[in-house]
Amino acid sequence: MKRISTKGALSVVGVVAAANIAITTLLPEALPLYWRSYRSVVHRSFFVGQWELYLLCVVGVLVVDGVVLGSDSALAKLARPGWSERTDLFFFAIRFFGLASTLPLLFSLGTIGLVPRWVRDRRGDSLSWLPEFPSIEVVALQFLVYWIIFDFFRYWWHRWMHESDLLWRFHRLHHDAESFTVLTGSRVHPIESVLSVLFVGIPMILLGVTPVQFTALWLIRLVVDQWQHSMVPWTFGWFGRWIVFSPIGHRIHHSQLEEHWDKNYGDIMPVWDRIFGTWYEGNVVNESVGNVPPAPQRPLVGQLLDPFAGLGSSRSQPSVVD
Ligand SMILES: [Zn+2]
Ligand SMILES: [Zn+2]
Repeated sequence: MKRISTKGALSVVGVVAAANIAITTLLPEALPLYWRSYRSVVHRSFFVGQWELYLLCVVGVLVVDGVVLGSDSALAKLARPGWSERTDLFFFAIRFFGLASTLPLLFSLGTIGLVPRWVRDRRGDSLSWLPEFPSIEVVALQFLVYWIIFDFFRYWWHRWMHESDLLWRFHRLHHDAESFTVLTGSRVHPIESVLSVLFVGIPMILLGVTPVQFTALWLIRLVVDQWQHSMVPWTFGWFGRWIVFSPIGHRIHHSQLEEHWDKNYGDIMPVWDRIFGTWYEGNVVNESVGNVPPAPQRPLVGQLLDPFAGLGSSRSQPSVVD
């Protein structure tokens, strides 16, 4: 069995950290406006830093997951990490140490930072179409509208990644996870991150979302994301069927059972799956997650480079599962 060696993982983290320092020093303009504001905005708004808040959410979900699942919990799996859990830990470390934007920046040669900034500079501030001194109700209503639009774009972006052979090459890394560790949501190929900024971020900027609003939306989805990648057997009842995806709702999306394929694409709200016919109505719940056939257990660098194999030659069919 091939595993990610500690030396290999440390080397990748080292290279990414060095690149991060180089980019922030040499090319500050390439820093993504919306990602950079994340830190300062959250710090100001919530009296705790971005990472404290994020860490609190992760620890909170891990503790609840541990209490409910005991020896099958995410913490128990992370204590004896196999191939799948090591990959989760690697991508979580990248996110945790603030390097989540570095790999996408490198893969996109800086474009991913410059394009949103360029678009926003031309679009201006969304508050221009609100009254000069908007009431709290108006501000809240605007945020709600952005939330719905943001989630709509995320639904279609996610569905497209499953339906396009090319995009599936990158998204399958997320579905190669063979267990849920709460950290599994961090496991996203950098190219997927780059493209999601273009597909979801740019339209939101054009619609006038501000960095503050975008940051808040992103934080909400990060918190939901932790829950979605836990094996706690909770559906959240009607709330999970209509308002916010439950752990079981998203587990079905990662299922190896054929009746679950092409279902439950939603990001935060299940309502889009219901409207567009991809909601899973049955009662069968999968006890395992992963791709069919299972992913070859490749070293980390191989996993990152696999999607590019054969790109340009004859069109190979990735093994789409769901
Ligand atoms: Zn998916
Ligand atoms: Zn997932």
